[in-house]
Amino acid sequence: MEYRKLPKGEEMLSVLGLGMGGIQNTPPEEIQAVVERAIDNGINFFDLCAGGKCVYEPFGKAIRGRRDKIYFQLHFGAVYKESGEYGWSRDLDAVKKTFEWELKSLGTDYVDFGFLHCVDEESDFSDLKNGGIFDFVKGLKENGIVRHMGFSSHTPKVAHKLLDEGVMDMMMFSINPAYDLECGDEYGIGTTAERAQLFRRCEAEGVGISVMKPFHGGRLLSENTSPFKKALTKNQCIRYCLDRPAVLAVVPGVRNLEDLNELLKFPESTAAQQDYSEISEFTPESAVGSCVYCNHCLPCPAGIDIGLVNKYYDLSLAGDKMAAGHYEKLAVKADACLGCGHCDRRCPFKVKQWEKMQEIARYFKEN
Ligand code: SF4
Ligand code: SF4
Repeated sequence: MEYRKLPKGEEMLSVLGLGMGGIQNTPPEEIQAVVERAIDNGINFFDLCAGGKCVYEPFGKAIRGRRDKIYFQLHFGAVYKESGEYGWSRDLDAVKKTFEWELKSLGTDYVDFGFLHCVDEESDFSDLKNGGIFDFVKGLKENGIVRHMGFSSHTPKVAHKLLDEGVMDMMMFSINPAYDLECGDEYGIGTTAERAQLFRRCEAEGVGISVMKPFHGGRLLSENTSPFKKALTKNQCIRYCLDRPAVLAVVPGVRNLEDLNELLKFPESTAAQQDYSEISEFTPESAVGSCVYCNHCLPCPAGIDIGLVNKYYDLSLAGDKMAAGHYEKLAVKADACLGCGHCDRRCPFKVKQWEKMQEIARYFKEN
């Protein structure tokens, strides 16, 4: 399992996380077994926007005795009815009551990531501010009960507003190839360029991203439902998300042990099994010629990590002050390019990479 460090913290998060949003119809013993098996296999990061109240107790049992090694996101605004069903609220008292109940059920006295839940509209943002929920979570952070503050959103424009507050360490965002290539559903908001710009801003400002909906609600996994008329695999979708700037972890939902076992194949899968470059056929005209960091063009005879070099370049252009430093640390840089043209011939996104390498080498020499 690969782990990525939270930029504003010491936590190392497993790149494969787990969402609890679809597990509520499973018996509590199996929910506990799913979480335990996930942890035993190196997963240490969970999203607790649960589909039902019944998830919290077995989750709490599963992490008992190893709480300090587990990180989870808790959503302020997700509440549960008496029946246990998930709902959401902007009422401060309801949110406080739910939080108290959640800590008790989980058997813990702190939360790793306290999220403002589902901030999609500008009115969500003002409701959270005016209703006191924003300040409540901020206060919990100041008291150490919430270790890091974050939010979940599907909307780039609103996400920027939250980032402007300057207090966020983490953002949960819906990312998958369909959304990023402008052929998703109502949750695939923003153009390819707007979405890429948001991810770059997060990287530049040290805000980590956890990914929801990596499979487009399962639609990408079947040729009958995929907007690309072609099925992608879970391994391809997960790798795609992990290659976006600022992404620390992907948190797909599981319903049972069977779903978990399938996900656990990801860390063992090969680069060829994760190669998602076939999505190039669906790249909108405006994005043709832009590197998506997929590394389908490797191997490079000079040993250049072409995707990574391009990522650092794009981040630096977007104002990320750390990117040049990361680039400098690379053992093989753009100036090692031999001009063989192999990458140009291999790139399905029609990137003129040979020319790009010269441009990148020049840029980093001058900056
Ligand atoms: S040049 Fe093309 S194949 Fe290579 S990393 Fe970029 S998008 Fe992928
Ligand atoms: S053109 Fe340069 S970057 Fe591309 S494969 Fe050849 S040596 Fe590597």
